[in-house]
Amino acid sequence: MNKHCLFCKIIAGEIPADTLYEDDEFLAFRDISPQAPVHFLVIPKKHIAGPAFMEEEDEQLIGKMMRVGAQLAKDLELVDGFRMVFNNGAAAGQTVFHIHLHVLGGRQMQWPPG
Ligand code: 5GP
Ligand code: ZN
Repeated sequence: MNKHCLFCKIIAGEIPADTLYEDDEFLAFRDISPQAPVHFLVIPKKHIAGPAFMEEEDEQLIGKMMRVGAQLAKDLELVDGFRMVFNNGAAAGQTVFHIHLHVLGGRQMQWPPG
């Protein structure tokens, strides 16, 4: 728990979220500013500032987080496809420095991303 971190506050229940899934290790909730018909975030309860701050011991946790995201995409019937994104650092658009997996779907995605 990082007391200055927005997502740690959501995990602690200090800030409400539209939760889709929770277990001992992860929380998934809808993005407050959705960029697609379905847009949710999966985060580990462990505070890791971003992909660049992962340590070797986090490899399994973050791999599992992707599987949680894929299962939720299936549950939400994103059968045609979905996009998973990690932003790392300000130049990539990271605004919350607690690692999070974006899962977006329900529309045709473009490439390259903006
Ligand atoms: P980033 O830009 O760091 O990759 O993604 C952070 C995401 O968190 C953004 O898509 C933003 O809309 C979302 N977000 C920021 N504050 C909140 C909040 O208080 N609640 C929820 N549900 N999402 C948030
Ligand atoms: Zn945090």
